[in-house]
Amino acid sequence: MPTPTRKRGRPKEERRTGARKKSSSPLLGKEVNYVLQLSAADTELLKRYQGVLVQGAAGFAETSYNYLFDNPDIADVLYAFERDGGNIGELVRAMLGHKLGLLSGDIDEAVTQQSEQIGRAHYRRGVKPVWTLGAYRLFLDHLQQLVATDPQIAHEDRDAVESALIKMIFRDLAVMTEAYWRAAIDQLTDQRDELGAEQSLAGELLSNIPQLLWTVDIESNSISYASPGTRAFCRQELEAPIPCFYRIYGSERERVLTAWQQVIDNESVQLELRLCAEDNDDQTDRWFRMAFYPMANRRGRVLRVHCLMEDITDMHTDRERLEQLSTQDEITGLANRALWYDRLSSALAVARRNPGASVAVMVLDINQFKMYNDSLGQQAGDELLRQIARRLQRVLRDTDTLARLGSDEFGIVLPFLQDAERAVERVAGEVINALRAPFSHEQRELCLSSAIGISVYPQHGEDANALANHADRAMYRAKWNSVPYLFYEADLVPSSATEHLQFSGQLHGALERQEFELHYQPKIDLASGEIRGAEALLRWQHPQQGLVLPTRFIAVAEQLGMIAPITDWVLDTALQQSKLWSAGGKPMPISVNVSARSFQSPGLVGSIRDALERAGLEGSSLEIEVTEATLMADLEEGARTLDSLSELGVSIAIDDFGTGYSSLSYLKRLPIHTLKIDQSFLEDMANNPRDVAVVRSIIELGHNLDCQVVAEGVEDEIIRQRLQDLGCDLVQGFHISKPLPNEGFGEWLSHARH
Ligand code: C2E
Ligand code: MG
Ligand code: MG
Repeated sequence: MPTPTRKRGRPKEERRTGARKKSSSPLLGKEVNYVLQLSAADTELLKRYQGVLVQGAAGFAETSYNYLFDNPDIADVLYAFERDGGNIGELVRAMLGHKLGLLSGDIDEAVTQQSEQIGRAHYRRGVKPVWTLGAYRLFLDHLQQLVATDPQIAHEDRDAVESALIKMIFRDLAVMTEAYWRAAIDQLTDQRDELGAEQSLAGELLSNIPQLLWTVDIESNSISYASPGTRAFCRQELEAPIPCFYRIYGSERERVLTAWQQVIDNESVQLELRLCAEDNDDQTDRWFRMAFYPMANRRGRVLRVHCLMEDITDMHTDRERLEQLSTQDEITGLANRALWYDRLSSALAVARRNPGASVAVMVLDINQFKMYNDSLGQQAGDELLRQIARRLQRVLRDTDTLARLGSDEFGIVLPFLQDAERAVERVAGEVINALRAPFSHEQRELCLSSAIGISVYPQHGEDANALANHADRAMYRAKWNSVPYLFYEADLVPSSATEHLQFSGQLHGALERQEFELHYQPKIDLASGEIRGAEALLRWQHPQQGLVLPTRFIAVAEQLGMIAPITDWVLDTALQQSKLWSAGGKPMPISVNVSARSFQSPGLVGSIRDALERAGLEGSSLEIEVTEATLMADLEEGARTLDSLSELGVSIAIDDFGTGYSSLSYLKRLPIHTLKIDQSFLEDMANNPRDVAVVRSIIELGHNLDCQVVAEGVEDEIIRQRLQDLGCDLVQGFHISKPLPNEGFGEWLSHARH
């Protein structure tokens, strides 16, 4: 129970001391003197005989004791007084003293006050006025005898003395009784005040708490109390037993009625309900928790029910969101890994019941996503993920599940496949196409590529775990081999994430341990047969695995943030070598490959300038090869880097041309010197006229852009001849020479020059 505030109730201190009296004062006083006709003559007479009377009344003490202790009710009160630390002897003496005081005939205020205090004390202690009446009857008896018999009192004064005594005693009784009931009234008033304060507090509370409360009287089936909030919410339509019942959805009403029946059977019930939006300001349904608490008599019959209704819409929304979150990816809104697994398992269950049915699993990883995320900021990264998600969604069927599995990794489940491999290859192609067009970020165009790993039920695994794992491994292999997609193959060297990790550990110290070396491959002028330069190709002498090719470790080095020192080492080594080979007066320009990460690093131009300086070479001794995808990833920034390199006199070659998505209008504006036709276009050139057409158009395009065109991967004379016929400028490939280590290349060079 809340304590009433001081403001409302009477201050505690005041109540205890009786400093402020609520009942009317002054207490009797003149009024009682008047009604009793107590006059100056009376007091004078009593004063005259006071000595005699006091002396005679001394014997009254014993009578008084007997009276008090013979009466068990009074005795109980006295013992209680003693238990509370009071002294009975002193009390009785004080009572006697008061009575004797009356014999003085004084009727001033002090006397009245004393009597009043005694009356109030009697009330507090539970001494009933009737007991006081009894005590005064005995006192009067005693005095009457004294007055009638004591020779010191003059005969003719006896009646008058007796009358004065009666008046004094009546007066005292009247004052005490008045004080007694005034004390009772004061107490009641205090209690009423306290109650009032509590009630107004409760009222304040009920008007302000968000919960709605009402009480139903069962017998009359009426609402006996409804909190202000309930009234406001139900707009006064307090229909028993559930106000606003009409706002409960029809389908839910049965539930409420069942609950009510349980309450009538004396059970507490809670339930959650949706109330329809009608009359609601924001026109949305709201959720409530309703609780019913039955109040029964001793025989278990419910007399009334207290009901509480609480708006839990926010909690409900949060809960729904949480549920969603546990199956939904927050950034893209796609399914998350858990839901994806679930869908995969369900698809497998269906496929197991349908012989011949397949399920394909694809794991797709965005290449260089981390780089975008780091350089553009996480928000842009998130936006990029959403754009990717939308594009992927467009190429999939409704029955397929697309999920974001983690950072830049997406998962796809393709259920109900018949000719699985063909179908999944088609989807992979569409996915790659969908991601080919540049993405936009703040009016910039960004190009992305991906690596996809595929596993198919039942050939690549029986359960969801195995299939997901295998698709993951295939994805890693695709990434390492720089191919857009790969199916899982059990007998290939596993390229799982764990192996990848182990590999990364070893890569860390490779530079210090001098495990890297460069091999060189020459570029030959098709028309004149002259050597025009060499491409430096990085190799890693792995302590266990032997010579490891760059496609296997460049991406890892990029992810580990190790690419910058590697690039610096390649630049230094290649330029020093070029200087040696150029010593005879014939320049031997060297081409160095620069990965996406390196290309986007702001320190690249400085590193190249420093390397040239260290080697003491002009910019024209160096060509930088960047792939189409690297360049297109951030055209504006890329263009600035190319301009700076061009100012140094360094040439630029676009590597693997034709495999990415180039914006031709952009290419025109860039200071590019060379286009390198990707080897994939040469492979089938002998048999496939379409490839010939592609190569021809690349050559034409290159010439239109004022670039020289290099074909790489030329493995035989037929292709070399074809390229020459098509007007290609330079060739590079095993047909001329494999990439060779220093000494090997030096030997080849001197032979060739001769
Ligand atoms: P790329 O720049 O396109 O290099 C050409 C690749 O084709 C080389 O593979 C080369 O050995 C190979 N090749 C040359 N002629 C033939 C041929 O007649 N037939 C066939 N089948 N292949 C031929 P490699 O050395 O394995 O390098 C692969 C890729 O690794 C390079 O592709 C380049 O992108 C990257 N790379 C190489 N060295 C470095 C480097 O120092 N730094 C960076 N960042 N990347 C490098
Ligand atoms: Mg290259
Ligand atoms: Mg290439």
